Amino acid sequence: MKIAVLVKEVPDSYGERKLDTTTGLADRGASDRVIDEITARAVEAAVSYADSAQDAEVVLVTMGPESAESMLRKTLAMGADSACHISDEALTGADLGLSAEVLAAALRRIGFDLVIAGDVSSDGTGGLLPTMLAQRLGVAHLTSLDSAQISETEVSGERGTYGGTVSLRADLPAVVSVTERMPDPRFPGFKGIMSAKKKPLETLTAADLGVDAQADVPRSIMLSVTQAPARTAGTKVTDEGEAGTQLADYLAEKRLV
Ligand SMILES: Cc1cc2nc3c(=O)[nH]c(=O)nc-3n(C[C@H](O)[C@H](O)[C@H](O)COP(=O)(O)OP(=O)(O)OC[C@H]3O[C@@H](n4cnc5c(N)ncnc54)[C@H](O)[C@@H]3O)c2cc1C
Repeated sequence: MKIAVLVKEVPDSYGERKLDTTTGLADRGASDRVIDEITARAVEAAVSYADSAQDAEVVLVTMGPESAESMLRKTLAMGADSACHISDEALTGADLGLSAEVLAAALRRIGFDLVIAGDVSSDGTGGLLPTMLAQRLGVAHLTSLDSAQISETEVSGERGTYGGTVSLRADLPAVVSVTERMPDPRFPGFKGIMSAKKKPLETLTAADLGVDAQADVPRSIMLSVTQAPARTAGTKVTDEGEAGTQLADYLAEKRLV
């Protein structure tokens, strides 16, 4: 059983988050670079299955800048067996379509029974990559699972919906995307950190995967990009007998009540 987990390096959400308004890309120098938290939960789902299964293999896959290699090494310490890094400057600013094409080619090369991804990344927030990937790979896709059960032949899980829960199941091979409601990722122990240094990590380019990043196919084009305004201090209400009314007025003005 081979489980591929799609992990992504993102700017730390607790640090300053800035956009390079010339390129539209995340300004990766503005804060620490960390694994996207939901993708860490996806790794946890895979390694906790592997902990109790015989012959389970977990492969981390990422497409990202050179710096993503260090994120992969740290994540290998959680218990994954190997990693694949697609690192190619020609893929800088790749849209969802090109990213899905590259990752699908990598997954075909690696081989997989199950692919686990996050439902949405904290920087790009496209929220569509796993679906596009499943379409390209021609396998089922269980979307936005809050819990997942994996067996040798199938994967199932629950998706929270407005006012209820939907249970889903698919035969393997399949792609699943998981949400932030999945169990917390484990902290790697000393043994895991030491063994991660020697685990196989393959680096590939788009050309290695037979993908032409400049090919003349429809791609989405970023027209403009605007940095979010800096946060303001907010309004402070001092209670002199009118605080309740002021709060109610504030909520009504913001259309929150
Ligand atoms: C050199 C280089 C620089 C890049 N710089 C940026 C950047 O500044 N900002 C940015 O958002 N993207 C960057 N990328 C990555 C790529 O352009 C986006 O990841 C891609 O368009 C997916 O968009 P998304 O994150 O909105 O997808 P979503 O659909 O929101 O992602 C959902 C899930 O898909 C998986 N996934 C998404 N992207 C990747 C990936 N790259 N590798 C592995 N799994 C993935 C994750 O499991 C994620 O949780 C860069 C890539 C390269 C090679």
